[in-house]
Amino acid sequence: MTEQGEAIRTAILTVDDDPGVSRAVARDLRRRYGERHRIVRAESGASALDALRQMKLRGDLVAVILADYRMPEMNGIEFLEQAMDVYPGARRVLLTAYADTGAAIDAINVVDLDHYLLKPWDPPEEKLYPVVDSLLDSWLSSDHRPVPETKVVGHRWSARSSEVREFLARNQVPYRWYSTDEPEGQRLLDAAGADGLSLPLVITPDGDPLIEPSDAELAARVGLATTPSQDFYDLIVIGGGPAGLGAAVYGASEGLRTVLVERTATGGQAGQSSRIENYLGFPDGVSGAQLTDRARRQATKFGAEVLTTRDVVGLDIKGSARGVRFADGTSINAHTIILATGVSYRQLDAPGLADLTGRGVYYGSALTEASACLGQDIFIVGGANSAGQAAVYLARHAKSVTILVRGSSLERSMSYYLIKQIADVPNISVRTCTEVIAAGGDDHLENLTLRSTATGDTETVDAQLLFLFIGAAPLTNWLDGIVVRDDRGFVVSGPDLSVEGERPRGWELDRMPYHLETSVPGVFVAGDARSESAKRVASAVGEGALAVMLVHRYLEKT
Ligand SMILES: Cc1cc2nc3c(=O)[nH]c(=O)nc-3n(C[C@H](O)[C@H](O)[C@H](O)COP(=O)(O)OP(=O)(O)OC[C@H]3O[C@@H](n4cnc5c(N)ncnc54)[C@H](O)[C@@H]3O)c2cc1C
Repeated sequence: MTEQGEAIRTAILTVDDDPGVSRAVARDLRRRYGERHRIVRAESGASALDALRQMKLRGDLVAVILADYRMPEMNGIEFLEQAMDVYPGARRVLLTAYADTGAAIDAINVVDLDHYLLKPWDPPEEKLYPVVDSLLDSWLSSDHRPVPETKVVGHRWSARSSEVREFLARNQVPYRWYSTDEPEGQRLLDAAGADGLSLPLVITPDGDPLIEPSDAELAARVGLATTPSQDFYDLIVIGGGPAGLGAAVYGASEGLRTVLVERTATGGQAGQSSRIENYLGFPDGVSGAQLTDRARRQATKFGAEVLTTRDVVGLDIKGSARGVRFADGTSINAHTIILATGVSYRQLDAPGLADLTGRGVYYGSALTEASACLGQDIFIVGGANSAGQAAVYLARHAKSVTILVRGSSLERSMSYYLIKQIADVPNISVRTCTEVIAAGGDDHLENLTLRSTATGDTETVDAQLLFLFIGAAPLTNWLDGIVVRDDRGFVVSGPDLSVEGERPRGWELDRMPYHLETSVPGVFVAGDARSESAKRVASAVGEGALAVMLVHRYLEKT
């Protein structure tokens, strides 16, 4: 926020139960400070507290609070005491009659009063403004950074709090995290009237509190598109990873009415990468978040619609139209579809892990949890590039990083450049022939049981954080019986569909399927979801582009 914007949103609040006095104080304050500050006026302690809570939720700043001492129900000192809970940094002034100066002096200790002003304060140039000027000066010189972003109040070991942070981060929504253990976290909970039992509390930039919101609710409230603008398109791209974003950029830039539908957040697996170093054109590497942000902007610049939090659960073939069904029962149709649904991490099946997921055990969310690793001994399971990148990244924060690999070496599964990087980082160690067979802990992960795949010996180690990057499965059951998949669920396409050089069974066209075309004409597959694909960012992007070329060929010939 600009300095000017900051100043305009900074409020001075005055409360007095006598409407005439209240208006007079506000008038005098507005005359001198109205241009740079918002003057907020209340006529009771309760309504002033309400106003402060509203401002707190919106992320507004309050610099000075002036309260009358003699007010019914809640006197000025009682009010200031509660106001301190909401805005501890605001400077506090008590307005008193001469007879009440004793109470005012006592209040200096009770509510850490900055000043008491005797009524009447005329002329304000002599009695009011010098006091408020100096309080504003001292307030300005203290740390009072405004917080215009979305705020997330949660607990470190609340699984949903961790998912919400991950969701916002992956969708490039700036947010600030407040733990319920911190005073400011408590203040925000109180301001929202939340009991802290259902977490997280998300406060939108407009100040609306959302308790334990769903991804769809969050998406809608933080300005992400979730609803298609049309019901028929030239091309529907399912999946917003590199393959889907590549397809959306080429589809839209080449004039196709294109919509991309993503279940969680654009970027896919690549969006979770701390540094992609082997993508063409980025000699110094690029983070998955940066690459995703650019690709998404590029796609929307060319006119592609990008929908998030929309889970596709069905594919319908209706004559020449291809339909996509969403989890909420609604659907959209198009001439063509590109499946770019990639793969998801497999869950590790060991006692204790499911219960502790999100509470010390994380699948892939290494970036969001990085700050939690500070000074900790952490464990990473996996032998592929994703595990290696996470280790290098987290080693900057953690005391030690141990990579647990089932096989006898990393060579077969990890790129050579990463193995070299890992060897050069002193606080990373690799334990080969090791698997996790159990996890323990009450409300969060406390220990892991490891077993040697070579000797069968087991050992229990203390652990607070475990990141799993194990294998990947294409979640394509919803395509069962519609498109041909291999025995691991990857979608088969092009020449791989032909049976001994013949057209695939059920294929009715008098041509063979195009290279990335599935067993349903006009439905294509690109990226990691394709059977025998390369599992790389560059190949996924390339296949997205190639699939669009084939879409054009399909449209020309039908
Ligand atoms: C941490 C990490 C680091 C990596 N580092 C590198 C690297 O350095 N270099 C490299 O070349 N490769 C790297 N990879 C691999 C690379 O990221 C993948 O090969 C690439 O992301 C595949 O792209 P994709 O678009 O095919 O699929 P994905 O990236 O898997 O994207 C698929 C998207 O489809 C969405 N989706 C799935 N099903 C549905 C549905 N039914 N409805 C709606 N949406 C759906 C998913 O939510 C997901 O966003 C890394 C992978 C990981 C996990």
